[in-house]
Amino acid sequence: MSKKTKAQELQEQLTWSAPHIGKDAPDHKEKALKYCEGYKQFLNAGKTERECVKEAVHMLKKAGYKPFDRTASYEPGDKVYYVNRRKAIIATTFGKKPLSEGLHINGAHIDSPRLDLKPNPLYEKEDIAYFKTHYYGGIRKYQWATIPLSLHGVIYKKNGDAVTVNIGEDPADPVFYISDLLPHLAARQNQRSLAEGIKGEELNILIGSIPYPEKGLKDPVKLKVLQILNEKYGIVEADFYRAELEIVAAGPARDVGFDRSLIASAAHDDRVCAYPALRAELDTLHPTYTTVTILTDKEEIGSVGNTGLHSDYVRHYLEYLAENAGVSYKDMLQHALCLSSDVSAAFDPTFPDVYEAGNSCYLGKGCVLTKYTGARGKSGSSDASAETMSKVIGIMEAHNVYWQAGKVDEGGGGTVAQFIAGMNIDVVDLGVPVMSMHAPMEIVSKMDVYEAYNAFVAFYK
Ligand code: MN
Ligand code: MN
Repeated sequence: MSKKTKAQELQEQLTWSAPHIGKDAPDHKEKALKYCEGYKQFLNAGKTERECVKEAVHMLKKAGYKPFDRTASYEPGDKVYYVNRRKAIIATTFGKKPLSEGLHINGAHIDSPRLDLKPNPLYEKEDIAYFKTHYYGGIRKYQWATIPLSLHGVIYKKNGDAVTVNIGEDPADPVFYISDLLPHLAARQNQRSLAEGIKGEELNILIGSIPYPEKGLKDPVKLKVLQILNEKYGIVEADFYRAELEIVAAGPARDVGFDRSLIASAAHDDRVCAYPALRAELDTLHPTYTTVTILTDKEEIGSVGNTGLHSDYVRHYLEYLAENAGVSYKDMLQHALCLSSDVSAAFDPTFPDVYEAGNSCYLGKGCVLTKYTGARGKSGSSDASAETMSKVIGIMEAHNVYWQAGKVDEGGGGTVAQFIAGMNIDVVDLGVPVMSMHAPMEIVSKMDVYEAYNAFVAFYK
């Protein structure tokens, strides 16, 4: 090795860019590959917010967590959870320091862009039965045609019984499908803009094509489908008004690449933060500060509704924690520190024009710290203070976490950070780079998922 020049030495001391984990720490790759087997299982078990909550409760109970009891007294190391309406969940491990000295909060979301069935979804046209859909969150509609789709959700019957639906994941199940034109007949459709390639009202789900065998019936294919649904679930058409049914890409998460370094799956946004957050919560046994791990709903449509972070459900939980410990709620919040854990758009070498290379995040360089989100002069964002950035970077540096700086999500999408900041809590966005974000199948790097976990574990130490 030749001796470094003065300039080379200076460059090493003074400049910074995030290294690729694969080059810098090859041993992380093996650990990351192993870690992500659990992540893939979580992805497959939780394709909707309700399924994620169910899976999270299962994991928490197995680890000895108990439902939070406002009247119980808690000791450091005790573990509790709280479920909000089956669609959001909070878990806590009590810390050594009193709650009056603050909390460490980590918030991720478990809703994802998808197609929801309309309240009256079932119709027939030219001897084919369909479900009408309404898209949820920011999607590129043309991406949802001609791929296998699955149906997930819950239907309530007149007698109050709930029917859980999950069709299209088991290889023996049928799947569902949105059609598109063949190239030969698409000349006019090809003139549409990409945004209009498939229109919202064309996102119709193919669900059957065999008529009920009797002459003179109106909509016999629809009737046949209703007969099948009635035999399987005991439901009638009116019960769709008492349902929440979601269409997502069918099939399990899959390894991508000869080196198996990436994962393609539905709904990485934001399970890729929710799973490491939950895992860090589970693996934290004796934290300094009390932990609050939030897996919330409705982020993709602005955090609205009583299961989203714009509602008071997290406030109420935190108030109960403070009351239970006999400390001031306001003091507790003032000393709290929060990570808003959500995904960032990974630099895509095929489409370099939309990224600023110096402020982008890259697959394989670790978790992404984002000072502010929003767009147009930071509107709609929570701009983390230099002090908060310093604290969080300090934690990651102390624990050798690979992290990179990024500008966030969808070039204008907010995250839950603004709602946490609104509670007078210090908060910064930390997440994982995602390629093809909001597509039916998205891509992440296993090394980044593992590094998010390492960051969250360090945060809860
Ligand atoms: Mn999103
Ligand atoms: Mn997100």
